[in-house]
Amino acid sequence: MGPLPPAFARQQGALTIAGEDAAALVAAHGSPLFVYDLAGVAAQVARFRAAMPVAIGLHYAIKANPYAPLLAAMAPLVDGLDVASGGELERALAVKPAGAVSFAGPGKRDDELAAAIAAGATLNIESAGEARRALAVGERLGIAPRAAVRVNPDLELRGSGMKMGGRASPFGIDAEEAVAVVRALIAGGATWRGFHIFAGSQALDAGALIETQAATLALAARLADAAGVAPPLVNLGGGFGVPYFAGDVALDVERVGAALTESLERRADVLADSGIALELGRWLVAEAGVYLTRVVDRKVSRGETFLVVDGGLHHQLAASGNFGTVVRRNYPLAVAGRMGAVGEEEVSVVGCLCTPLDRLGDRVLLPRTAEGDEIAVFLAGAYGLTASPSAFLGHPAPAEVVVG
Ligand SMILES: *Cc1c(COP(=O)(O)O)cnc(C)c1O
Repeated sequence: MGPLPPAFARQQGALTIAGEDAAALVAAHGSPLFVYDLAGVAAQVARFRAAMPVAIGLHYAIKANPYAPLLAAMAPLVDGLDVASGGELERALAVKPAGAVSFAGPGKRDDELAAAIAAGATLNIESAGEARRALAVGERLGIAPRAAVRVNPDLELRGSGMKMGGRASPFGIDAEEAVAVVRALIAGGATWRGFHIFAGSQALDAGALIETQAATLALAARLADAAGVAPPLVNLGGGFGVPYFAGDVALDVERVGAALTESLERRADVLADSGIALELGRWLVAEAGVYLTRVVDRKVSRGETFLVVDGGLHHQLAASGNFGTVVRRNYPLAVAGRMGAVGEEEVSVVGCLCTPLDRLGDRVLLPRTAEGDEIAVFLAGAYGLTASPSAFLGHPAPAEVVVG
């Protein structure tokens, strides 16, 4: 199993989340249940602010967790919200002024472009064709689109769980083509907003992030010089990872912040007046979420003990190993009523879906567990419910609740 997040690692006895008893939360809201600790989210934002240069803006990529009460709590803590669909745009505009909302993602439909342009959100333009469509939609509405160019960089984030740069990609405009699109947008009357350069995700290696951020700043400067216009904002992407699995070590954000301070001091003249931002998803919210699911059945098959729970991959796909991981490994989990208890038996925790993919813990060591006990699956604050196939098998939706 991966390491329990710091807020839970030393708990003994009954699990509490932001001081609230997990069993009481389940009694009040039902099982399965997602609990998000808002104090934990705020603490993570505070840690970011303390570690990073003051000039760095923090954006939240809301696809990590768009739950409305969490988003409402997050909005005043961050400088921007990054969205990737018309639906997310609506959620973001409900809690943040349009000037602080940017819309990335491939395949934006004309109605989505129109909604963003009408509201005054920034479009992170993903292709030359999208630039043409955005200008046409702006013309039809009589509103100049606020546009940044998302660049597919000629570099990639080393050690990143999900590589997105340095190769052919549906995301962004190849660095070699970006300047032409910047010129076309400006010539077409768009309000120029700058560059968005996202090189990868889920990096735990501070050295890799430091290198990537420095290279990304240099790329932005090169493109700005070639285009002959300074970018009001450079969004350097994010990529801050979370330790999910055995052997993972938490990212040293303080080291990343110190290096970024130096990179900013050395930045090229063309970026002297540019705002610089990072956009983070999972790092801000993953550890603040716990998925609680009750053991419905305990059975033994050919020597292997199975705990069958009332939740599963339809709520928490990532913990089943079916969301972007090559080899299935166990997320940290625990018996909610017996935190800190020694492991007594090797069991497999499986969900209630009729597919062998639905496994939340594969041969994990847990204290003796009976029907009715609650299993806590940690790191459920990011890419949980909205990143899971909740319609599959037709079970009811789980409740979500915020505490703290
Ligand atoms: C998904 C996404 C993010 C957030 O990624 P995390 O790994 O959750 O931090 C940030 N930026 C863009 C463009 C994304 O698509």
